[in-house]
Amino acid sequence: MLTANNTSVSRRLLGRLRDVMAGSGSPQERLDKVVTLIAADMVAEVCSCYVMRAGEVLELFATEGLKKDAVHKTRLRVGEGLVGDIAAHARPLALADAQSHPNFAYRPETGEEIFHSLMGVPIIRGSRVVGVLVVQNRTMRHYTDEEIETLETVAMVLAELITSGELVRREELVPVDGNALLPLRLEGVRFNAGVGLGVAVLHRPRITIRRLVAEDPDVELERLKKALTAIKNSLEELFSRPEMRDGEHRDVLETYRMFAEDKGWLNRISEAIMTGLTAEAAVQKVHDDTRARMSQITDPYLRERMHDFEDLANRLLQYLSGGDSDAAKGDLPEAAILIGRNLGPMELFDYDPKRLRGLVLEEGSATAHVAIVARALDIPVVGRVKDVLDKIEPLDQVICDGDNGQVFIRPPDDIRESFMDAMGQRQQRLAVYARLRDLPAVTCEGIKIGIHMNAGLLLDLQHLHASGADGIGLYRTELPFMARSSLPDVAAQTLLYRKIIDQADGKPVVFRTLDVGGDKVLPYWNPYDEDNPALGWRSIRITLDRPAVMRHQLRALLRAADGRELRVMFPMIAEVSELLQARRIFDIEVEHERAAGNPLPSKLLVGTMLEVPALAFQMEALLPHVDFVSIGSNDLTQFLFAVDRGNPRIAERYDPLAPAMLTFMKRVAAQCDAAGVSLSVCGEMAGRPLEAMALLGVGIRNLSLSAPSIGPVKTMVRSLDIGALRAYLDTIMDLPDHSLRSKLKSFAIDHGVTL
Ligand code: PEP
Ligand code: MG
Repeated sequence: MLTANNTSVSRRLLGRLRDVMAGSGSPQERLDKVVTLIAADMVAEVCSCYVMRAGEVLELFATEGLKKDAVHKTRLRVGEGLVGDIAAHARPLALADAQSHPNFAYRPETGEEIFHSLMGVPIIRGSRVVGVLVVQNRTMRHYTDEEIETLETVAMVLAELITSGELVRREELVPVDGNALLPLRLEGVRFNAGVGLGVAVLHRPRITIRRLVAEDPDVELERLKKALTAIKNSLEELFSRPEMRDGEHRDVLETYRMFAEDKGWLNRISEAIMTGLTAEAAVQKVHDDTRARMSQITDPYLRERMHDFEDLANRLLQYLSGGDSDAAKGDLPEAAILIGRNLGPMELFDYDPKRLRGLVLEEGSATAHVAIVARALDIPVVGRVKDVLDKIEPLDQVICDGDNGQVFIRPPDDIRESFMDAMGQRQQRLAVYARLRDLPAVTCEGIKIGIHMNAGLLLDLQHLHASGADGIGLYRTELPFMARSSLPDVAAQTLLYRKIIDQADGKPVVFRTLDVGGDKVLPYWNPYDEDNPALGWRSIRITLDRPAVMRHQLRALLRAADGRELRVMFPMIAEVSELLQARRIFDIEVEHERAAGNPLPSKLLVGTMLEVPALAFQMEALLPHVDFVSIGSNDLTQFLFAVDRGNPRIAERYDPLAPAMLTFMKRVAAQCDAAGVSLSVCGEMAGRPLEAMALLGVGIRNLSLSAPSIGPVKTMVRSLDIGALRAYLDTIMDLPDHSLRSKLKSFAIDHGVTL
């Protein structure tokens, strides 16, 4: 919080800085004057300005108080010494006794040994640290938060001078890859499948703020207010569009709307205006501060929220500096690949989705709001592509390969052609799969295989009928919970589940109860920081401990069914008693509905997921209590092999086609068969043709997979003779091999199975 006194100090300082910056003299002379001015104003014996040069080196560019000979000689690497530390972490440092800090690096040429205290702030432009501004005192001075704030504000004004290109050539400030103009292949993470080819459009190139220091804070506050109103109006307009009527992307924007009213954020901007900044400079400052601080935070939810603020800040800046956000739409090339650090949920709507062939992000996660929106718009997304913005120029050719989580920049002709071919073939395959739609999933010997679809968004339902799936084998109910800012109540849930059942149009839907925790973090509900979240308080453990949440969800499901069939499945059951406890809660809800005179489902089927190996050792006790079992191979692999499913370092270490996994599946299949209980597999394994083939070989007869995998898996089913495969598997299941993958592949080739 800034005090009135501090506010006037920094406003006075800013006023003087403005005069110096606008005055005569070379950039170096102006910088020299600036450090003298700051030292005097902040009552510091030293004020130094370090500027980032090529190669991540911070060079002393101007100083008041240190030896002048050191200017342009003293250089520190990012991370080296306290100055390097400030740059590396993009955060301020204030130390009463700097020399006792472990990172203190003594440079004799500066003569700084006589100064004990040090306060430094990063000079940030956009997301880059372009320098460090430091003050030092002889005494062991304790710098206050207000003084840090003042220095940060000054640093922001200085950033303008540093990045003007007058002090250091602009090319030096933007680290460009040595091979910038050569073709590049960059690895990332698949956030949404699909492949797109187009030219690079850099997401809203940074707005240059021309006016930093204001004459009259009241005028600036009024401008801020106007800008906020304009943004709220455009949000309202967005909400009124037909495509926004329902779906999870609407929830995402509801959450965003809340952020636009966040008091803390708005207050910080107003306070920054009161220090003498213009409205746009204040927005930028608060935004840079937030970003620098948030970049230290590892909590994925909080990091994602930062991008909501980022989106808002960009929008405000655009408005305040007279930009027109519609320009992005108008200028968009026919086939564009949008490249950005990260996008807020609303920003994708600024571009014409018909022209967007892909989205490449430096950051983000598959559950980020923008990824949810991109899925809704069917745009391939590759995320976490390190430093892509530094390696790409606007209008470069780009291939966004969402299927394999990779990006090709300026691809050579042969790669481009092979991708065009692949895309052409893909189109042809899609046409073949579309023709398969109405053909049954039956093996060569006439065994019917149930092919169901996995879903998690209302928008996925459109694929149910297009793909010819038998029904929805897994409806992950957690996404709407994750997209909102608070728990959806019974009415909201009923509405959503009713739409799902309506749109399934008579095809069965298996609703899985809330499966959060682990990597699926609920924004409003993350009370514990756990060492092993995958093994922690998650999924059924949460809903059994918080039965009201479970009861509300079950009540909503019963009401949504409205007299039709209802299938409910409980996730991550580790022992029969947990299932019984969940069933008892369900019974209470059924009674509740009966007593209220509400219609009960015509048929009620209750099942369990088998994801925790312990449950497989209680099959006899379990099977009389369930109508169906579904193996979640993602979590099962994690628990069977003790291998964290989110850790890329060990992602390839074990193979689900290992003898242990297939033996496990075979036993469970035999037990379910004997008890007459339907069994399916609904993890990623079921969606890969070779893995799906192996599952059929060990006795599984129902698969639930994502929509794009249905065509390939159905093709495999229709070319397979399960009898021959089973006989072959019997000969190899007991081998001590790490994996049976290559043997199964050979089987498929030898027996004409289409993979
Ligand atoms: C699984 O674990 O295999 C599964 C289907 O559930 P989720 O991926 O949602 O954890
Ligand atoms: Mg799971």
